[in-house]
Amino acid sequence: MEPLDRQALLSLLERPALRRLLEVFNGSGEETRIVGGAVRNALLGRPVTEVDCTTTMLPEAIIDRAKKAGFKAVPTGIEHGTITVIVAGEPYEITTLREDVETDGRYAVVHFGRDFVLDAKRRDFTINALSLGLDGQLYDYTDGVADLAARRVRFIGDAHTRIREDYLRIMRFFRFHAEYAEADPDPEGLAASGAERQGLAILSKERIRHELLKLLVARRAEDTIRILADHGFLTWLLGGAAEFGRLRRVAASDKDNPVPIWRLAALAVMVEEDADRLREHLRLSNDEHKNLAAYARLLSLLKTWTLPLDAAAIRRLAADHDIEALGVALTATAGEPSPVVHADAREALKRFRSGTTPVPVFPLRGADLVESGIPKGPRIGELLAQARQAWLAEGCRTDEGYARELLKRVLKEA
Ligand code: ATP
Ligand code: MG
Repeated sequence: MEPLDRQALLSLLERPALRRLLEVFNGSGEETRIVGGAVRNALLGRPVTEVDCTTTMLPEAIIDRAKKAGFKAVPTGIEHGTITVIVAGEPYEITTLREDVETDGRYAVVHFGRDFVLDAKRRDFTINALSLGLDGQLYDYTDGVADLAARRVRFIGDAHTRIREDYLRIMRFFRFHAEYAEADPDPEGLAASGAERQGLAILSKERIRHELLKLLVARRAEDTIRILADHGFLTWLLGGAAEFGRLRRVAASDKDNPVPIWRLAALAVMVEEDADRLREHLRLSNDEHKNLAAYARLLSLLKTWTLPLDAAAIRRLAADHDIEALGVALTATAGEPSPVVHADAREALKRFRSGTTPVPVFPLRGADLVESGIPKGPRIGELLAQARQAWLAEGCRTDEGYARELLKRVLKEA
């Protein structure tokens, strides 16, 4: 375990735009600090891309001061106190200090305050409640530094109480565990999450989806998904079965650039119906659903492919399907009895995915047929579909000679 990186933390304050921002929003009786994820990640020596700040100033005053300093201010979440301030092209979220006055398990009624301690204590986990002042002082009101050093995710205060205030914290507990923890989940947090599990049902599907997709690309996604399964969360979250082996293989191969929807595909899609159900269950976007459905169709093709897959078969599949879905489906099923995949097929796939070899594109268009004298109408579509089948069967050639030859055959047919 690496120790905490105090140097990286202080170097946040040397970022010119951020320093400028803090200088503007400190002074004249007001105080503004960096808070939350940026402090946590800097201390861990991880990249800091988003910086949130918390301030004693009220939203209108933030806007005022931003304008006087020549910064653009966007009231992105003004009702809960958040203003996005843009300095040298970089956006920073500045939020007025808050205190919870009322919670119902989903949303909190908050009051603006001027107390950094109360603001820290309404946050979810100790490692998320650290703040850093312009002078380099690190504030830790919840023992977050010790937990961060131990790579441990713990609720602030009593876990049951904190979960009942906002059941999404169950999902966040597992998500932050997956991203930052090194040992087993904190026993108190785990027990409370299990006991309060039914509370997840009152949350919107969108919020669950957001946390689940983030969890799926976290460092220890695979272990944590296992834990979710062992504690009876997973079937409820997915509304169906899970394939751990496939997730493991995909997660091992996409570590440098994990894509949440492909990990979800590997974990939870076996047939097309799974894709449709997950769309409803997690309110997925059309694009996300399209990817899951493409993956499902490829799985069913690959699982019933009778011959071993060779480079020519991959070329054909690449011409007819989404190349990423194909790559993920083959990675997910590697090590299963079917399909049998030749080494040259894996090479061909790699070249298509990296763009070294372009994915073959069917060389004829409706316009080509019209220009050759075939009248516009449904017949054009039929002829193209036939020609496309021939093209697929003949190796998906893309050279000019082949295209001319194919067009001749179509005209003859017509
Ligand atoms: P990430 O890098 O994943 O964005 P983050 O720490 O910035 O990590 P966010 O979800 O963006 O996480 O939330 C920002 C901060 O707001 C958290 O660090 C935490 O202090 C607080 N927070 C967010 N959601 C909750 C919640 N449901 N309950 C309590 N505090 C929360
Ligand atoms: Mg964040």
